[in-house]
Amino acid sequence: MTLPLRRELADVEPYGAPQLDVPVRLNVNENPYSPSKAVIDDIVEGVRRAASNLNRYPDRDAMELRAALSDYLKKESGVSVPGERIWVANGSNEVMLHLLQAYGGAGRSMMSFAPTYSMYHEYARDTGTTWIQGERNADFSLNMEAIEDAIAKHRPSVLVLTSPNNPTGTALTLEEARQVAELTRGSGPEIDGHATDTVFVVDEAYAEFRRDGVPSALELLETYEHVVVTRTMSKAFGMAGLRLGYLAATRQVIDDVMKVRLPYHLSATSQAVALAALRHSEELMSQVAHLRDSRDALVEWLREQGLQVASSDANFVLFGKFQDREKVFQDLLERGILIRVVGPEGFLRVSVGTDEENSRFKDAFKEILK
Ligand SMILES: *Cc1c(COP(=O)(O)O)cnc(C)c1O
Repeated sequence: MTLPLRRELADVEPYGAPQLDVPVRLNVNENPYSPSKAVIDDIVEGVRRAASNLNRYPDRDAMELRAALSDYLKKESGVSVPGERIWVANGSNEVMLHLLQAYGGAGRSMMSFAPTYSMYHEYARDTGTTWIQGERNADFSLNMEAIEDAIAKHRPSVLVLTSPNNPTGTALTLEEARQVAELTRGSGPEIDGHATDTVFVVDEAYAEFRRDGVPSALELLETYEHVVVTRTMSKAFGMAGLRLGYLAATRQVIDDVMKVRLPYHLSATSQAVALAALRHSEELMSQVAHLRDSRDALVEWLREQGLQVASSDANFVLFGKFQDREKVFQDLLERGILIRVVGPEGFLRVSVGTDEENSRFKDAFKEILK
């Protein structure tokens, strides 16, 4: 048998960080705390109610959930984005795919600047969009000149920047984001002789972990209609298992992605669970405050060990440099601690865990450094 697999998939390995059953898992930036009893009870009650209607298709437009996310964003960042300008899907990964299905495709390109999240090029590939990757500066900040040149050369349909960035943890300043928003005006592919804007996506998967005074790109939405901000409940919210991501943008973007979503893409149970979790956002945010403190302490501790450590606005830390990072990774794994080999050569990334997990990581790491 020979199946007609698309050529570009021939040598592809399915994406996946190792899901190993070890005591301390600090490799995929999850919130280390499982939901509290109060959250679980509310979720169970929400699902019970949804279950009585499972013979029916879910609310296709998820209006109640989008309104709840609007309230949450207002509380979290002070920016008002009405529910009609929010889009929800199964993880921000699906949100990104929707954007590429609407704005990418054959003869078009998507651009980002490394080191950054490794999934973007897969959405590009899966939608037949050309993937273009430039480089950040050595300190992981943006090289504006390189960005300007690359935009002029390729006229991308979509440009995505991650802030705080994964795997570096570094955030864009509002000024940098504004500069890129300016550069992407009128820089997209021509349609019928008319220039379009490049859709400028700021992936804010880790936004809730940013340090005080670091603004969200949500603040750009009023000025720049081609800016899209994506968020997720997978990280700070502690709901990676739920698969719920969303974006905030102008109304036009919502109308466009609605054309490509699968009918009833977001299950009634997902909507019910997300609504229940959002009712507990204040409790969850106090947990985030603790994780931010732990992150700051971890950055400081790693620096005290004489390592090079990127300033982090996320719930993970990139540190190095090691002659043989694979060996450090393996030595930690032998001690029951799973982190991630990712980022520039010589670097490793560790997610912030519970207090107990963080001290186990530090103890094991001290042993290895000896
Ligand atoms: C974890 C992560 C996401 C989250 O994806 P979901 O599909 O919402 O779980 C998005 N972007 C980046 C950069 C991430 O690291």
